[in-house]
Amino acid sequence: MQEFDYVVVGGGAAGCVVAGRLSEDPSVSVCLLEAGGPDSSAFIHAPLGFAATAPLKLFSWGYETVPQAGFNGRKGFQPRGKVMGGSSSINAMVYTRGNRNDYG
Ligand SMILES: Cc1cc2nc3c(=O)[nH]c(=O)nc-3n(C[C@H](O)[C@H](O)[C@H](O)COP(=O)(O)OP(=O)(O)OC[C@H]3O[C@@H](n4cnc5c(N)ncnc54)[C@H](O)[C@@H]3O)c2cc1C
Repeated sequence: MQEFDYVVVGGGAAGCVVAGRLSEDPSVSVCLLEAGGPDSSAFIHAPLGFAATAPLKLFSWGYETVPQAGFNGRKGFQPRGKVMGGSSSINAMVYTRGNRNDYG
């Protein structure tokens, strides 16, 4: 049985930052729990690599939307990362920075 000062659930974009910041203090112990596996696959680290694996749901939870009237009743693919790095690991390395004027 192990005990920790902090348990962070989810090694995604937020969880990794929280765990990393907490770990900067050597006097505390931190446990980071991630449901998915490591992010070492070349499909994660190669630009557009995730696009090739998306149908296989290798690194995602495989969520779908409910049937969409605007899609003629079809369901939409709703990717959410299930891997170290979370959804940030499955963005196909296509980074879109928000424009601060859009959030005013
Ligand atoms: C395809 C795609 C492209 C994107 N492109 C951009 C972009 O260009 N610019 C941008 O700003 N944002 C982008 N995003 C959005 C961005 O990735 C997310 O907003 C961000 O990752 C959310 O961070 P999070 O920590 O809330 O969740 P996530 O990063 O999704 O992390 C959640 C983690 O928790 C884990 N988890 C869930 N439940 C459990 C459990 N019970 N136990 C253990 N672990 C669990 C999951 O496996 C996952 O690893 C994109 C997202 C996707 C999917």
